[in-house]
Amino acid sequence: METAVSLRDVAKVFGSFRAVDGVSFDVPRGDIFGILGPNGAGKTTTIRMIMDILRPDEGEIRVLGERLGDGLKDRIGYLPEERGLYRKMKVAEMLEFHGAIKGMSRTEARRAALLWLDRLQLGEWKERKVEELSKGMQQKAQFVAAVLAKPDLLVLDEPFSGMDPVNQSLFKDVILDLNRTGTTILFSTHQMETAEKLCRRIVLIDHGKVVREGVLAEIKAGFGRSSVLLEFDGDGGFLRWLPHVIGVDDYGQSVEVLLEPGADPQKLLAEASSKLRIRRFEVVSPTLHSIFIALVGGESPHA
Ligand code: ADP
Ligand code: MG
Repeated sequence: METAVSLRDVAKVFGSFRAVDGVSFDVPRGDIFGILGPNGAGKTTTIRMIMDILRPDEGEIRVLGERLGDGLKDRIGYLPEERGLYRKMKVAEMLEFHGAIKGMSRTEARRAALLWLDRLQLGEWKERKVEELSKGMQQKAQFVAAVLAKPDLLVLDEPFSGMDPVNQSLFKDVILDLNRTGTTILFSTHQMETAEKLCRRIVLIDHGKVVREGVLAEIKAGFGRSSVLLEFDGDGGFLRWLPHVIGVDDYGQSVEVLLEPGADPQKLLAEASSKLRIRRFEVVSPTLHSIFIALVGGESPHA
C-alpha cells in the first residue's frame, strides 16, 4: 500500500497536557480519509503537525513518502480550521496570489481560479473584496485557494462546518470529483453523516488517542449488522441498560439502539414493548453516528 500520509506514535504536548497522545495511522494514496472525533479530540493539532505548522514532540510523520519540506508543500492543498484570507484583496486577485505561492504562473492561476469560482457559484464575486463575502462564501473562496494548484494531497480541517446543506452537498461533490481524478483527500470532521458518505477509511480519535482506525465498512461490520430504530410513547431511559445494548442515540422523537453483534432485535422488541407503547420498530445497519456515540460516550458530536 502506497501511503500519502503516515503517522507513527505521534504526540503533541501543551504544558503537561497531551493533546495528541501516541497517534498512528496511514492514509493510502488515492483515498478519502476522515479524521473523526468530538470537539477537543486533537484533530486540528494532528492536522497542524501533518502540515508542519506544529512540531510533534514524539513520533514521526511522513507525507508523500518524505518528511514535509518546502518542496513538498507545492503538492499539498490545505484548508485550515481558522479561516483567514487577505480581506482587502479582490477574490480573483487573492487566488492568483495563492496560485503564485504554489508555483503557478499568474495566467495559469487566474484561469484556474475563474473556473473554480464558477463551479462554486462565486463567479459573480470575483472582482469583489474578500471582506464583502459572507462567511460561507469566504470559506468557498478559501477552498478554491487550497485546490487551485491541483494538489496531490488535499488536507481539509472541518470543511463542512458552517456550510448550509446546499453548499455541503456542493463541497462533497467537488471532493469526490477531485478524488476521482487522483487527489488523496484527508479531512477532519465531527459530523458523522458526511464522513459516512465520503470516507473509505477513518481514524476516530478521542482525548488525543486512537479509538478505532481502518476501513469504514469493516469498522461498521465489527459492530454487527443491526441497530434498531424505535419510536415510542413513554420513558425509554431503561433501553440503555438492557442486555446486548452497546449504546442508545436519542433523538427525542426516536432512538437508535446499537446492539452487540449477534444480538436478537426481537428480544429488544419484547423488552421494549413490555414497558413502552411502540410506534415504530425497524432493524437497520448501524450508522457511524451511533457507533461514534457508543465509542466516545455521551459526548455529542454536535456540541
Ligand atoms: P479538535 O480539532 O479535535 O477539536 P484540537 O486539536 O483543536 O481539537 O485541540 C485538542 C486539545 O488541545 C484541546 O483540548 C485544546 O484546547 C488543546 N490545544 C490545542 N491547541 C493548543 C495550544 N496551542 N495550547 C494549549 N492547548 C491547546
Ligand atoms: Mg479542530
